[in-house]
Amino acid sequence: MRSAYDDSGRYDSPVWRFIRRNIAILAFLALSAGAMVATYAYFNPTDGVAEVVATGNSTGALSAPFSKPVPPRPIRQRLAQSPGPIRIGIIAGHRGNDSGSVCEDGLTEAQVNENIAARVISALQTQGIATDLLDEFDPRLNGYAATGLISIHSDSCDPLNDGATGFKIAGSGYTDSSALSICVESAYRQGTGLNYHANTITPHMTDYHAFREIAPGVPGIIIEVGFLNLDRQLLQYQPDRVAAAITDGIWCYINQVRGGATVLQPAAPPAGGG
Ligand SMILES: [Zn+2]
Repeated sequence: MRSAYDDSGRYDSPVWRFIRRNIAILAFLALSAGAMVATYAYFNPTDGVAEVVATGNSTGALSAPFSKPVPPRPIRQRLAQSPGPIRIGIIAGHRGNDSGSVCEDGLTEAQVNENIAARVISALQTQGIATDLLDEFDPRLNGYAATGLISIHSDSCDPLNDGATGFKIAGSGYTDSSALSICVESAYRQGTGLNYHANTITPHMTDYHAFREIAPGVPGIIIEVGFLNLDRQLLQYQPDRVAAAITDGIWCYINQVRGGATVLQPAAPPAGGG
């Protein structure tokens, strides 16, 4: 066992012996502690960081902004603004309500109208257009929202006079429907060869009930496709021709709505170039 006295005879306490033996480690610990205190004192902010950040006044404090500015990227718009999905409503005149004009042999206006309306619907659907075949007083007409509404009617079957031939169109007095009206009039004249019969347009047409029911801003027209008496040959036996003429007019209108974009039409000759 070691003596409490060293070689020179001086008393040596255990503490001093411990210090002498571990002087290197103790010096390192002391220097480390000093360095840590100095580092803390140097970087410690005067105000509480959390409070400064919370007030949003973080300039100069130990914080970074939550977002960084991003330079705006140029947006390249290749297509014209989409007018939304195209939807066309077709009213088969008198359907679900009454027969309309009736010929002596029992042919009704409602039959003729529906025969044509169904073909227009079919032609549009074949080319991917959303459509609604509507009754005369269809509940869906209330607030009906679409790209356009076309009501198909026929004129009297009474043998009036030699002038009782031709078609006529009236547009909604509530929403500007001139584009739809002009398109269908021009295409119908061309497709059927019928003349425009302007002098028998009645207030019943211009103030047509459906124009009041559909949503504001939806263009609507009513077309009297011809007289059941003198134009019967065309209306009853060539419904495809009548429907194609109306459909052409609707396409003219759809193309205008789409801003002149080219629409694939099987019936049209192939367009050259771009
Ligand atoms: Zn009618």
